[in-house]
Amino acid sequence: MEFEGSVLIKREDAVRSVKAADQLMTLHCLQCNTILADSLHVCGEIKCLDSVMCTRVTNDVVVGDGIMSGHKGEMADCIYSPLTCRSCQVLVGKRIDSSPSHLASVRQLFLLCKPKISCYVLNSCSMVSASTLSFEVKPVTETTAEVRRQFELQLDRMLRLKSRLAQRGVITKKRK
Ligand SMILES: [Zn+2]
Repeated sequence: MEFEGSVLIKREDAVRSVKAADQLMTLHCLQCNTILADSLHVCGEIKCLDSVMCTRVTNDVVVGDGIMSGHKGEMADCIYSPLTCRSCQVLVGKRIDSSPSHLASVRQLFLLCKPKISCYVLNSCSMVSASTLSFEVKPVTETTAEVRRQFELQLDRMLRLKSRLAQRGVITKKRK
């Protein structure tokens, strides 16, 4: 049994290293496998609510009426709409309609609760629990820094090419 245990741990580690942001996948209701969203509309995850953030979900996600949360915890003083799976009516997440400033960036996004979601990864044709994946996306500053670096490299290349062409122009003129 010990051997089996170690194999399981190894697999779990392998899955954890997978960055969901690099994978094409569909997000399913863990209970009934109905498709609730896809990775093209995932825009990150919010760790304090253990949820995947989506800009769009399928018609199988039912948005309920707004509920006022209590005054304690991460969701203190929020108005949110529960999201349920149309097929099995299980609660799969929430959409925050109104919140204090610390949750302002996730208002109106569909927050699918990771423990309630499984993912079908297209590349590996495998179904994995969303809780074993990281849906973090690179911070915008990191992305813009990379774009800037690429632009500067390109500009540098063009300037060198320009000066080489100018030199050639001078040489051909001299030959004439
Ligand atoms: Zn379901």
